[in-house]
Amino acid sequence: MKELKARILRDGRCLPGGILKVDNFINHQMDPILMKSMAVEFVRRFARTDINKIITVEASGIAPAIMVGYLLELPVVFAKKKQPSTMENILVTEVFSFTKQQSYKICVSKDYLKPGDKVLFIDDFLANGNAGKGIIDLVEQAGAELVGMGFLIEKSFQKGGDLLRSTGIHIESLARIESLDNCEIKFKD
Ligand code: 5GP
Repeated sequence: MKELKARILRDGRCLPGGILKVDNFINHQMDPILMKSMAVEFVRRFARTDINKIITVEASGIAPAIMVGYLLELPVVFAKKKQPSTMENILVTEVFSFTKQQSYKICVSKDYLKPGDKVLFIDDFLANGNAGKGIIDLVEQAGAELVGMGFLIEKSFQKGGDLLRSTGIHIESLARIESLDNCEIKFKD
């Protein structure tokens, strides 16, 4: 998506270890106009997919997910990183965090992820695909169906894209980064 790639080049910053910082418009300050355009693009790309629910992981996936949910007029569920003591009927899985280099649990209530649900996963980044794998597990545990996964930014030099595409799930990424070597941002297409 041209607009997103231009914004990454303008405001994205490379950090050592293959990390792209987009705090200016996605991860800290957020640009709702760009967020809306990205959601419109997801709606276009998943137009032929039968979806009844959007799922994401807190916190950075919530903004793009709610924009997609708003446009499609569908509920948005976010997997929580801390299990609230009041939460019953929960499904839990473990995710390894690329940025924090440690595992953590994510959970979702069975009240909001049910057998028969056709779920679209939306997240900010696709790196090694660990969040995606966690969501696949939660959706399977719920007896629901994962009908697609949409990422704002895919770092194609990490293994997540190949790993998730090998499952046959419909994956879309709005900007694919081929390399961040020497702190130079190179797009794949
Ligand atoms: P994955 O689960 O695909 O291994 O990693 C994706 C998650 O890690 C994203 O939800 C995002 O929060 C974080 N992440 C991975 N790479 C980057 C990056 O380069 N920049 C930022 N800001 N977050 C990243």
